[in-house]
Amino acid sequence: MPDQHTHIVFAEVFDDAAVARMRSVGRVTILDAYDEATLAEAIPDCDALIVRSSARVTRALLDQAKRLRVIGRGGVGLENIDLEAARERGIAVVYTPAAATDAVADLTVGLLIGLVRQIRWADSSVREERFREPRERARFVELQTLTLGIIGLGRIGQAVARRCRHGFGMSILYNDIVFPGHLDFVATPVSKDELYQQADVVSLHVPLTEQTRRLIDDGALALFKPGSLLINTARGAVVDSEALARALCSGRLGGAALDVFEPEPLPGDHPLQRAPNTLFTPHIGARTRAGLSRMNAVVDDVIGVLKGGPARFPAWTLTDIP
Ligand code: NAD
Repeated sequence: MPDQHTHIVFAEVFDDAAVARMRSVGRVTILDAYDEATLAEAIPDCDALIVRSSARVTRALLDQAKRLRVIGRGGVGLENIDLEAARERGIAVVYTPAAATDAVADLTVGLLIGLVRQIRWADSSVREERFREPRERARFVELQTLTLGIIGLGRIGQAVARRCRHGFGMSILYNDIVFPGHLDFVATPVSKDELYQQADVVSLHVPLTEQTRRLIDDGALALFKPGSLLINTARGAVVDSEALARALCSGRLGGAALDVFEPEPLPGDHPLQRAPNTLFTPHIGARTRAGLSRMNAVVDDVIGVLKGGPARFPAWTLTDIP
């Protein structure tokens, strides 16, 4: 029987099965928005708060939490939760670290091929009756001739590297702040500057932290190989988007594929919207059926904590902590 004194609040959309699981434990409220005011109204009377990447769980919000025991984050990337404030208040934070790995790695490879073969331009040439144009003008390169530079060789970075090395025979460079341990693919560690200078394609897979915010700015882009490509499926704020637009418009960079933006959603009048050779997706990296289902499983960890058990995937011990 659900305990009506236990109040669980979903601040973002989760599937019906996840909501039903929580209804078996307590009283459930599903918020229709996740803005500051809506969250502030819900939080004082809340034992468990369940979010994805959009709801911002700030220190000010947690100051109003009288009985919150656990925050569940369906997904990976914890920058929308003030982990330090939660820890100080003894509030557990659980998440689903591996839920998105394959989904994001697959999309990254899709974006890579889309950029290298200029699929967006090729597609529009068919639709706009310029069928011969790409056939006459384009001389594409093959992936096996390219060097991929991965910043952040964690779960997703490794999954991308594995696909690109084993699947396409690309050369792999990487940069990480921790030793990645044994790798089942050939990859060479280098400094960030060396990676920018040597890679044909730079792919970002770091969490958003104070160290990685605007990591790719004018200074970093000036080091990129002329005509090289940038892929960002990590977090929009890892890239200075105006600097990226400048590098694309000047022809310094050959193209960019982005699944994540700053700001997000990207406004229609943002300079990136007019920059050449871009390929955009609306933050859908993790949005596969299996990925979402693995993210919904955060409710099991929330239930475990509410019942007094240990968290299976607690935030504290992992590298996502800024
Ligand atoms: P992870 O923790 O397994 O890997 C991140 C890696 O980045 C770690 O190896 C870490 O040491 C490294 N790193 C951290 N700071 C660094 C720095 N300053 N320089 C170099 N390396 C650094 O995380 P993951 O599961 O691979 O996910 C990576 C990120 O992808 C998440 O934090 C999230 O922001 C993003 N993500 C995006 C989507 C999407 O829908 N597009 C979905 C899931 C995750």
